[in-house]
Amino acid sequence: DRLEQHMKELAPADKKVIEEFIQGIRACIRSDLPIEKAPELYGRIDGLKLLSKMSPFLRVMRKWKRIPIQDFAKRFSDPFLRQAFPLSFDLPDFPMMGMLATLAWMHNKSAGYPVGGSLEFSRAIERRYLDSGGEIHYRSPVSKILVENDKAVGVRLADGTKHRGNIVISAADGHSTVFDMLEGKYINDKIRGYYDKLPVFPPLVQVALGVARSFEGLPPSIIYPLEEPVTIAGREHKSVGVEIHNFDPTLAPQGKTV
Ligand SMILES: Cc1cc2nc3c(=O)[nH]c(=O)nc-3n(C[C@H](O)[C@H](O)[C@H](O)COP(=O)(O)OP(=O)(O)OC[C@H]3O[C@@H](n4cnc5c(N)ncnc54)[C@H](O)[C@@H]3O)c2cc1C
Repeated sequence: DRLEQHMKELAPADKKVIEEFIQGIRACIRSDLPIEKAPELYGRIDGLKLLSKMSPFLRVMRKWKRIPIQDFAKRFSDPFLRQAFPLSFDLPDFPMMGMLATLAWMHNKSAGYPVGGSLEFSRAIERRYLDSGGEIHYRSPVSKILVENDKAVGVRLADGTKHRGNIVISAADGHSTVFDMLEGKYINDKIRGYYDKLPVFPPLVQVALGVARSFEGLPPSIIYPLEEPVTIAGREHKSVGVEIHNFDPTLAPQGKTV
């Protein structure tokens, strides 16, 4: 509601476009994504239940997944919104769906910034696993997944030791798992297509600076338009984003900032 009000204060003439945008976010807020099971564990009944639960969301998705943020921004008549709106997700051809879903998840508090950063997030999973009796072996790169009769039965580590298990799950990236650890023996056109045909997500560069002052009164996230665009690796950038991490007290002592 606050976002809608703020945008309407900034650009009263764009009331209709703003309402369409906010309606998209609200539709995503109401959709509950099914995360209780991995997709491959869904049976036919689960599938039907899922379809009825997800149908309002699928309708929203069909509409918004085809509209790049840059194109939607052109519908605002207000010059500030036209310029500022696409900067909030400044990636080429990024669909509106990604923006709506992110804002909806943040509203529902199912997405956000974990205090302590991603390491603390991983540590929480580690603690839970260890408390439940699990064991973790760090610094143990896997060179091969052992396969017998087309079933994964264990792993061989880079140091040559073999470890067998009833269930083998790779949490490594798909390419290493499919092409290195399984030696490319279990691929089809669909899997190969993921690596050969899908567009590569543009890399992001983040520079973290420790600064001996605080920045009271400034918002945690600011996007500065550049006076002159900068071209890096063939792509023109018209803005630079700054995150002031004072909302995370674990990153810097009092009075200092990352
Ligand atoms: C630029 C960028 C920005 C992103 N921003 C966000 C964000 O803001 N919010 C968000 O939620 N997500 C974000 N993501 C997505 C998020 O980072 C990934 O979805 C997430 O890290 C995937 O976690 P994972 O554990 O499945 O895989 P990974 O993090 O890829 O971990 C796989 C691990 O397997 C290890 N490994 C590989 N081969 C072997 C081997 N042979 N033996 C042993 N280990 C091996 C790798 O070293 C790696 O540590 C972003 C991704 C990118 C690329």
